[in-house]
Amino acid sequence: MDWLSGSGLIWIEGRFLGIEWHVWKLVGWVGNAVFFSRFLVQWYATERQRRVVVPQAFWWLSLVGSLILLSYAIQRRDSVFIAGQAFSWIPYLRNLWIHRKTKSSQRTCPSCDRINPAHYRYCPGCGSVQADPTGDGSVLSKGC
Ligand SMILES: [Zn+2]
Repeated sequence: MDWLSGSGLIWIEGRFLGIEWHVWKLVGWVGNAVFFSRFLVQWYATERQRRVVVPQAFWWLSLVGSLILLSYAIQRRDSVFIAGQAFSWIPYLRNLWIHRKTKSSQRTCPSCDRINPAHYRYCPGCGSVQADPTGDGSVLSKGC
């Protein structure tokens, strides 16, 4: 273990990884970790569904990670870093809004659990009649 501490791989000049640690440095690394974790979430979701998927969690991690990094950049007064993070939250919020709108306009098929747009009268997965979103039978009675 002497090679870890003695050669300066872990402890360099009395500092862990040679980094001067303080609260804001920790905030910056947490921001990096949160922002990076979005890739793992997206990768996992894609592998699980065997198609390219961008889950809602990806956008939440993007938003939170970028805001943490923006606060770090402002504290450091680094104009390049601030400019890089200052507006990135806009598409993240927009994508979260779209996710919310899309999800609220979907229905789960009671027969096969497939998620379909709410306006579908029949499930493309199993062909069963979808629940009437109006509840009064007006949509189902129209047929297709
Ligand atoms: Zn179905």
